[in-house]
Amino acid sequence: MTIFSSPFEDVVITDKSITERVFEGLVDRPNEVVLTDGPSGRTMTAQMFMDQVKHLAGRLQAADLAGGKVVALMAPNIPEYCVVFHGVAWAGGTITTLNPTYTSSEVAHQLADSHADILITIPDFMETATAGAGNRPVVAIGTPEFDALFGEPLLAQQRVDLDQHTVVLPYSSGTTGLPKGVMLSHKNLVVNVDQTMKCGEFQRGEVTAAFLPFFHIYGMTVLMNMHLAGGGALVTMPRFDLPLFLQISQDYKSRRMWIVPPVALALAKHPLVDDYDLGPLEEVFIAAAPSGAELTDAVSARLNCVALQGYGMTELSPVSHLIPGNAPRSGAAGIVVSNTTCKIVDPETGEAQPTGAEGELWVKGPQVMQGYLNSPTATAETINADGWLQTGDIARVDSDGYMFIVDRLKELIKYKGFQVAPAELEASLIAMDGIVDAAVIGIANDEAGELPIAFVVREENGPSKDEIDTHFTETLASYKQLHQIRFVDEVPKSASGKIMRRFLRDQIVSEQAQA
Ligand code: AMP
Repeated sequence: MTIFSSPFEDVVITDKSITERVFEGLVDRPNEVVLTDGPSGRTMTAQMFMDQVKHLAGRLQAADLAGGKVVALMAPNIPEYCVVFHGVAWAGGTITTLNPTYTSSEVAHQLADSHADILITIPDFMETATAGAGNRPVVAIGTPEFDALFGEPLLAQQRVDLDQHTVVLPYSSGTTGLPKGVMLSHKNLVVNVDQTMKCGEFQRGEVTAAFLPFFHIYGMTVLMNMHLAGGGALVTMPRFDLPLFLQISQDYKSRRMWIVPPVALALAKHPLVDDYDLGPLEEVFIAAAPSGAELTDAVSARLNCVALQGYGMTELSPVSHLIPGNAPRSGAAGIVVSNTTCKIVDPETGEAQPTGAEGELWVKGPQVMQGYLNSPTATAETINADGWLQTGDIARVDSDGYMFIVDRLKELIKYKGFQVAPAELEASLIAMDGIVDAAVIGIANDEAGELPIAFVVREENGPSKDEIDTHFTETLASYKQLHQIRFVDEVPKSASGKIMRRFLRDQIVSEQAQA
């Protein structure tokens, strides 16, 4: 049985909270600016950040919004995002992070599912937030109500069981079904910061443009936590904007960028890139969705730097594979990180496959989530009795230990790195009067990675495409919108009633080949 182990030295599993781990990278540089709001230039020093975290934590405790309570955070990347996240963690509470582009019904769903006690947002999203929050209090950052959340400081980390306490609940659909709360402990987050850090050298004070959303585990672990813990600083960007991204990278002489494939495509192809001096850039990390060797090579050639992939998933806090800067390999998604093993398993037989063979990637390590919130069945379907997390991705590992993602077994669609759960879109379609069945799959697209398309079975007087589009825009975030709707007589299903997604995907691919 082939099990691939990590060539990296193990990291020590410490008894620190994620906030204590981040503060370790801040205490000896109190006056350095560690957070800058990209659009306005507003800054926060390390000392200001640590103080605000402690003052917020103190007030949250006093207001009984800490131990056992869930604080929902729906905001774009701004310095205060990090204050709220770490303030809750320092106080011993739990944060659930929401995509700030959610509609009120998506907000309502996550708040109910996570049993959130309060929602913190920004003034621009107040209307949607309030509509989704029901009776829960909603506080907007930058208002007097937000300022009132800062009180007497809590001077030391509120003790919690670092292995058992869920500090953050991001949402992911995993291998199947609807988005679920992914329970991550302090230990999960801290170890993943250390595992990820081991694959590259940090330079004191290095600055990177932080557009990867903090609500998603990639931006959360790699930027908000690892970059600050490693001695770096962030310039936050509320949304991706190519000119601003290039401007920040040039002005702050970034030596590393953390990006997703659509941004890699822009860096490889967009004419604007030539207008900026990115000379100091040494490494570009691309993760969250597939990117082939061609794309990484094109980025590397144009920017005269090393382009590296990483692989992970929310359920892995997120990193399980990374390519170290000193050993790049085109097209590979990474080498298994410290303290972690992986194997490639035949999805039919469950047998581990030898080096070079394709199969489902299984991962075991201290960064594997605690489980899905209130979903023991989904948890057991994802983490087996021996502790292996079954990723739902098809991969192979070569004789040097480099892992290559080949395909995806699970239903998940990734639009520009964002998760789109087919089950959620199907449920939304079936909820409409006059629709009897539906299947949603992703089709390949150069710019977005994948686009969702729907096969819909409707009754005679069922809704039109326009009516379906209107229903989607009203209820679902923009990245979950359908690219195409096809009316069909039936949705192909297996004998056990599962949608035959591969059959539908092959049909589209053969149509595209003929076109
Ligand atoms: P998320 O939980 O949103 O981070 O999504 C995790 C999923 O994104 C993985 O299971 C993969 O399907 C996909 N993914 C992440 N990184 C890569 C990569 N380097 N190459 C291919 N797919 C990736």
